[in-house]
Amino acid sequence: MKQKRAYQYRIYPTDEQKKNLAQTFGCARFVYNWALRLRTDAYYAEQKRIYYAETSARLTQLKQQPEYTWLNDVSCVPTQQALRHLDKAFRNFFEGRAEYPKFHSRHGEQAAEYTTSAFKWDGKQLTLAKMDAPLNIVWSRPLPTGCKPTTVTITKDTAGRYLVSILVEEDIKHLPGVKKQVGLDLGLKSMVITSDGEHVGNPRYFRKDEKKLAQAQRRLSKKKKGSKNRAKARLKVAKVHAKIADRRRDYQHKLSTRIVHENQVICIESLSVKNMVQNHSLAKSISDVGWSEFTRQLEYKAVWYGRTLVKIDKWYPSSKRCHSCGHVLDSLSLDERFWLCPECKTFHDRDLNAAKNVLAVGLTVSACGEAVRPGRAKALSGRTR
Ligand SMILES: [Zn+2]
Repeated sequence: MKQKRAYQYRIYPTDEQKKNLAQTFGCARFVYNWALRLRTDAYYAEQKRIYYAETSARLTQLKQQPEYTWLNDVSCVPTQQALRHLDKAFRNFFEGRAEYPKFHSRHGEQAAEYTTSAFKWDGKQLTLAKMDAPLNIVWSRPLPTGCKPTTVTITKDTAGRYLVSILVEEDIKHLPGVKKQVGLDLGLKSMVITSDGEHVGNPRYFRKDEKKLAQAQRRLSKKKKGSKNRAKARLKVAKVHAKIADRRRDYQHKLSTRIVHENQVICIESLSVKNMVQNHSLAKSISDVGWSEFTRQLEYKAVWYGRTLVKIDKWYPSSKRCHSCGHVLDSLSLDERFWLCPECKTFHDRDLNAAKNVLAVGLTVSACGEAVRPGRAKALSGRTR
């Protein structure tokens, strides 16, 4: 079965390409924000919903007005894609999966998406529309031979690095079946606790980086506004941020790949991270472990490799329930790492007991045929590294 898979590489654009990209990022951002305002105003003023087709038609008109002709200086594809992204953001909002779309800032990460009509791929080199020379790509891993890229996204992160993400359709072979099944629980002391009793990943590992980050931020705050030194200090902060994000993603990818390789059925709790982050004492640790990103990786890798991922209800009392006898405690505070079951007198490690419950419930759920919504998992195209 063909699967979509994204390959990301560092690129080093020439000065001329940088100029073109800066313009393209600017136009894509402008169009996104312009259409967001349009849709918001229409909704508030007339309780009317505007969809992609209408924003697209209005963009064509806009580009003909003399004061907006600069929009025609760049490839028209990234601006169209910006409208599609906004449309998707609205759909996610209306279907309750995301917050209301926000305006894109010129200080954040910049992106431009090109579809097949806006780039050339000759099997070795990639050239974007309105550019003479191919991109200088650092091929840190090969693209699968004979593949045809369908979408190319260029990003410039806040640390000033340029990256290209190439989406290809690839025949990913399912892994040979294995017997093992596992339940995973989100830990605070360890990132993941498996029902086999394995504790993986210490989120405090990333705290070292955070010290560095705090230091860079302190330096930034002391610099005068608008000064050159302030700009330098800001870039330094962004670089530390980027390094932390890279390391975390790398770690999560290694772990999610290993778990998918080793197990046929993987059961996890579908946590509402948003609700939990509101609890401030927990917030740091939870954003540290990046559970939702980790879950996303497990989801698409399970689809790729022919594994079953079962997400269980977040309201299931996995921590408070004794996995040996089924007794449910009235309450169990977060700092209680161990507890004794009053019914069967089993002594529990809080996280391990939870992971075992997640596995047991997950297996029951999957036996009843209510496994993870495969439609959603398929729709996720993975960013691999
Ligand atoms: Zn018990």
